[in-house]
Amino acid sequence: MILMMPQVEEVLPAIYRIEVPLAGSPLKSINSYLIKGKERNLIIDTGMDTDECRQALGQALRLLNVDLQKTDFFITHFHADHLGLVFQLASEKSSVFLNGPDLAALKSAIFWKKAIGFVPRHGFPESEARYALKIHPASSFKLKDLEKFKVPSEGDTITVGNYCLQCLETPGHSHGNMCLYEPQEKILFSGDHILGDITPNIALNIDWSYNPLKKYISSLEKIYNIDVNLVLPGHRSIISNCRQRITELINHHRQRNEEILAVLKKSPANAYEIASKISWDMPGTWDHFPVIQKWFAVSEVLSHLKDLEVKGLVLCEALGDNFIFRRK
Ligand SMILES: [Zn+2]
Repeated sequence: MILMMPQVEEVLPAIYRIEVPLAGSPLKSINSYLIKGKERNLIIDTGMDTDECRQALGQALRLLNVDLQKTDFFITHFHADHLGLVFQLASEKSSVFLNGPDLAALKSAIFWKKAIGFVPRHGFPESEARYALKIHPASSFKLKDLEKFKVPSEGDTITVGNYCLQCLETPGHSHGNMCLYEPQEKILFSGDHILGDITPNIALNIDWSYNPLKKYISSLEKIYNIDVNLVLPGHRSIISNCRQRITELINHHRQRNEEILAVLKKSPANAYEIASKISWDMPGTWDHFPVIQKWFAVSEVLSHLKDLEVKGLVLCEALGDNFIFRRK
């Protein structure tokens, strides 16, 4: 690996990892990847639509002599830290790829309404929920040109230089999350599907009929069965042992289910109360968590509760307009 400047490294010939800072976020930074080709380049994920991200990525792209007129974009999923900057970077001649379910979610714009009708019924104070949605990274989107997006399907290929990338549907972290796999070099651009030093957030916050954790685990198993030498994730360090990391992630979610069951063994509780009682990889105590982190935490607990309900281990009961959970 060749270090070119603090935030740019050449991971493989013509494949660059560009670390784009996310100040104030526990994620710290996002990895944007550039693949340089003779005719066209491809950028995978971009960073948020902020001055900080624009300057960092812009500087790296200038250093690498990237002509945006000759550059296409692949966005692994619709979260603001991956998609946000693409509207600034894409030129008229750029193709921008984003999976169908995430694009549909962006177009529908009813997400917030549904979330505000759902999460407070699980104990999240409504005023705090409104604030969380106001400062949510996705609220900063300046959506435009959504019609220009191209929707890849499972097995579609994108060729850049010597690399032929296969699109793999891996729902879980988002409804339509997609990875790119290069079978010759056996590399996987995993977006947030597989991360090394942190665990991807699996959230349920609008639709109780959907089980994102189940989808996520089967998407992990799908990748487990593929031969991967190197995982290039959306955040933090590159991962060399893909199967070991997948096993760790599956075990992590099993342990989280156990932790939630242990809380419910003491007494029935709503999702917000459960989130305040289990462990989080965050400094400080629950009461001091920023509201937006509480939002992510409760959304994650709800995805576990849904999974536990489907497995027949917990019961979800309506108490007036609100819901509580008890062990079965
Ligand atoms: Zn994400």
